[in-house]
Amino acid sequence: MPHFSYLVIGGGMAADAAVQGIREIDPDTPVGLIGEEPHPPYNRPPLSKKLWKGKPLNTIWREEGNWGVELFLGRRALTVDPRAKRVDDDHGETYTYDRLLLATGGTPRRLPFGGDRIIYFRTLDDYRRLRALADTGGRVAVIGGGFIGSEIAAALAMNGREAIMAFPEEGIGARVFPRDLSQYLNDYYRHKGVEVLAGESVTGMEERGERLAALTGNGREMVVDGIVAGIGIEPNVALARQAGLAVENGIVVDEFLRTTSPDIFAAGDVAFFQNPALGRRIRVEHEDNANTMGKQAGRNMAGANEPYHHLPYFYSDLFELGYEAVGMLDARLETMVDWKEPYKEGVVYYLEQGRVRGVLLWNVWDQVDNARQLIAAPGPFTAESLKGRLPA
Ligand code: NAP
Repeated sequence: MPHFSYLVIGGGMAADAAVQGIREIDPDTPVGLIGEEPHPPYNRPPLSKKLWKGKPLNTIWREEGNWGVELFLGRRALTVDPRAKRVDDDHGETYTYDRLLLATGGTPRRLPFGGDRIIYFRTLDDYRRLRALADTGGRVAVIGGGFIGSEIAAALAMNGREAIMAFPEEGIGARVFPRDLSQYLNDYYRHKGVEVLAGESVTGMEERGERLAALTGNGREMVVDGIVAGIGIEPNVALARQAGLAVENGIVVDEFLRTTSPDIFAAGDVAFFQNPALGRRIRVEHEDNANTMGKQAGRNMAGANEPYHHLPYFYSDLFELGYEAVGMLDARLETMVDWKEPYKEGVVYYLEQGRVRGVLLWNVWDQVDNARQLIAAPGPFTAESLKGRLPA
């Protein structure tokens, strides 16, 4: 039965960053990592961005090979026993640990039809499947207008592929962006050659010979060669629940990223943590959080005992448009839009009770730290007082 001082469940970016964090403090002690995917840890963002702009596939790999970690790949951890400090996996292996990290990430939500004919885009294998489809020149339906939907539709169009997007909201990124910006994106995508079906939920799929038809609730049909979907993820909290840890909107952790069991930590998409600047618990499904929180969890597993107060940023590229963003980008909040050039360059502030809760830096760069300071500042702020606050 393998024993590890540090055992990591999960093979994603947070897991890999945690191993780095452990190694910063403790260079030698055995580390084990159980990952469900057959691949060692890799960077996920290029799968929907840079790999479609010519970056080679072999650039995605992370450096876990240098950290002296024993990898158990293609395996799923089934149970955690916090008292015995023991983990069982689906290959019948049992591991014991001194400190455990749950970096179990999330699983894509699925539609109740279509089975495996629909690519729920998240992993390297999903990328390979979609790439193979795109390479045959096929027409692709993209379901969802969130992060995956918007990036994948752009990626396909930039590669000269026919993409047709359908999503239930009025506009691309409607949950995140102010309404007019989201509407602008619909037109921008159309101008770039993407067919955009806004306000359309896909409610069924039929096979039409070699092709597929995605059917919408309003009776539209998209006859395509393949379907890719990004309709959100569910955090993988089943192990934490089974182990008796506190779970709300994710695994509850304290500021040191400890769960309610003292020797079990959690990090990444799955962790529900308190952010001091926002004054609330949040769960963040983006790269910076996976990397920064993962590393902090690893350092703390190895005894550093440092609080995680970082407010993560995220970013995206939509054709030639790009942005960075910090905090709560919730289109339901009051927004103050400060354009230098409408829809091309500017800053959007998201306000709640006189405090800035989120900042969108639209083609505006090097302002993430200033945005963080603004979010931490007590205010009160008004739309007028924010005008010109961050240079566009
Ligand atoms: P997402 O950004 O949450 O978007 C999901 C979208 O799908 C929402 O617009 C949602 O609309 C819509 N939707 C839900 N059910 C649907 C249905 N039945 N038919 C059509 N649309 C439906 O999630 P995602 O795009 O799947 O991304 C997955 C995860 O990867 C997220 O955690 C995201 O943060 C992460 N990611 C991040 C980046 C980045 O940081 N740049 C890039 C890619 C992925 P409703 O709001 O109406 O439910």
